[in-house]
Amino acid sequence: MYFPSWLSQLYRGLSRPIRRTTQPIWGSLSRSLVLSSQRRNPEFSSFVVRTNTCGELRSSHLGQEVTLCGWIQYRRQNTFLVLRDFHGLVQVIIPQDESAASVRKILCEAPMESVVQVSGTVISRPAGQENPKMPTGEIEIKVKTAELLNACKKLPFEIKDFMKKTEALRLQYRYLDLRSFQMQYNLRLRSQMVMKMREYLCNLHGFVDIETPTLFKRTPGGAKEFLVPSREPGKFYSLPQSPQQFKQLLMVGGLDRYFQVARCYRDEGSRPDRQPEFTQIDIEMSFVDQTGIQSLIEGLLQYSWPNDKNPVVVPFPSMTFAEALATYGTDKPDTRFGMKIIDISDVFRNTEIGFLQDALSKPHGTVKAICIPEGAVSEVQKFFSTRNLFANFIMELKRQELIRLMETQEEDVVLLTAGEHNKACSLLGKLRLECADLLETRGVVLRDPTLFSFLWVVDFPLFLPKEENPRELESAHHPFTAPHPSDIHLLYTEPKKVRSQHYDLVLNGNEIGGGSIRIHNAELQQYILATLLKEDVKLLSHMLQALDYGAPPHGGIALGLDRLICVVTGSPSIRDVIAFPKSFRGHDLMSNTPDSIPPEELKPYHIQVSWPTDSKAAKAH
Ligand code: ASP
Repeated sequence: MYFPSWLSQLYRGLSRPIRRTTQPIWGSLSRSLVLSSQRRNPEFSSFVVRTNTCGELRSSHLGQEVTLCGWIQYRRQNTFLVLRDFHGLVQVIIPQDESAASVRKILCEAPMESVVQVSGTVISRPAGQENPKMPTGEIEIKVKTAELLNACKKLPFEIKDFMKKTEALRLQYRYLDLRSFQMQYNLRLRSQMVMKMREYLCNLHGFVDIETPTLFKRTPGGAKEFLVPSREPGKFYSLPQSPQQFKQLLMVGGLDRYFQVARCYRDEGSRPDRQPEFTQIDIEMSFVDQTGIQSLIEGLLQYSWPNDKNPVVVPFPSMTFAEALATYGTDKPDTRFGMKIIDISDVFRNTEIGFLQDALSKPHGTVKAICIPEGAVSEVQKFFSTRNLFANFIMELKRQELIRLMETQEEDVVLLTAGEHNKACSLLGKLRLECADLLETRGVVLRDPTLFSFLWVVDFPLFLPKEENPRELESAHHPFTAPHPSDIHLLYTEPKKVRSQHYDLVLNGNEIGGGSIRIHNAELQQYILATLLKEDVKLLSHMLQALDYGAPPHGGIALGLDRLICVVTGSPSIRDVIAFPKSFRGHDLMSNTPDSIPPEELKPYHIQVSWPTDSKAAKAH
């Protein structure tokens, strides 16, 4: 394995535009990220003992005296040693002559992954021994002095990307996992993108980067919050699920273009691809409408997009929530492929098939279908084979009509469902994705990972029926979201029908952002909180008061940075783009967090643990 000189490429892009390439194959292509306004390569070796990085030396450095620091990646026949740092690999010649016995001893005896410092001359490799796969493959280092900076004990796993290791092991030894090429690439790309976002927002568009508290109070509705005990008996802080209230209050305070790389906390238990703490690019603006926010975000993403990825095409298409649900069965459609949901209710209106008639006679009853191209020659057919008999019967009856409506071909499979509109659509939406998985296991490329398909989803409902009690309402997003201007009258008559001024940003089937135009009228906010949502308005009296003191119209958005970087880098999990993530169950496996606290340390907080009697936790204590 050779560590490509991707980083220098990444920065070399600074001064000249680089042709956009498709997704680089691991380790085989140099990677680049254009920072258009920055014109200089950063100085990687300022303030430190090394003169150069391991990955940067070329024939142009021949004859130079250099000092390098790095980890021992590889040693061959006590003659060659390959030294690695974040920038790449370089070959070091272990001196064989007697006078250099001490240098040889250090370099031959140091275990792999030990940290060494070597000084010597850059020389060219003997003819025929150049390594074209290695960016530094034309040269090697003739060592004069060497120092073992720190020896490495036997590692729990090898620092080679191709070595398979469980995620639990990677998380337990995260500091070792971070040495891998992939983690280095992901975290450095993340830093680059955030840098560009700051530049775009602050320098090009006058935004102000403002930090807001993470010790806050409980917010009604929305996600569950983590509690932090205080020394006042029975009083707690909450960790905010987002800076929502603060950013709106900043608008009232006249800081009319705010942004923050904000840490947010949600105690939502274990869910795949969620983290209890995560990062948002949080934005709020005064005097803005939906199109203003959308244009800002399109520009922001285009500006900060890595140059080695397929480009971001703006403006992003837009779809209403109703259309997304009807066509893709979800509010975050993956628009990289078709297999759209088709309404075939009319085909079955006059048939005798009992369950279809039954479904169609109910309110919002429909028959819907999706067509899986070449499903019959793939796993898809096996997956659904138990229902084949009945399907054949339906097809016999309605073959021609269905073929025409759904444009089916010889080997296609049609999946059909009947029932209430939303339920039927979301079922087919899930099957659509499962079938895509099945087809892709057979090598069909439906969701090209190098394509970036952005989509705005708009016109969400303002309220949803509460899960626990469907007769009550809850905010579809958060209670500060403004109603759609043309639906305001419905607030007082049919609030369930009110659409909101909320917008979601979807990328390749992932929700990567969401925001809204906010309510800036205290009376309307009070009505929604107290009358429609039945919330305790005392908890939000500061917000209601602020809106009454000359609050400007305002709106904003938050981009989920972890998810965005995950999609950009094509990583399998958001944990791969976070330096120290929590496990699936919300634990830090490296430091064993959360951890127990001795009872005496809980006393100042007036807290006592009531141990569950039958749980494993109780047994453990
Ligand atoms: N605070 C919202 C969220 O975290 C985003 C927004 O409305 O700006 O989802």
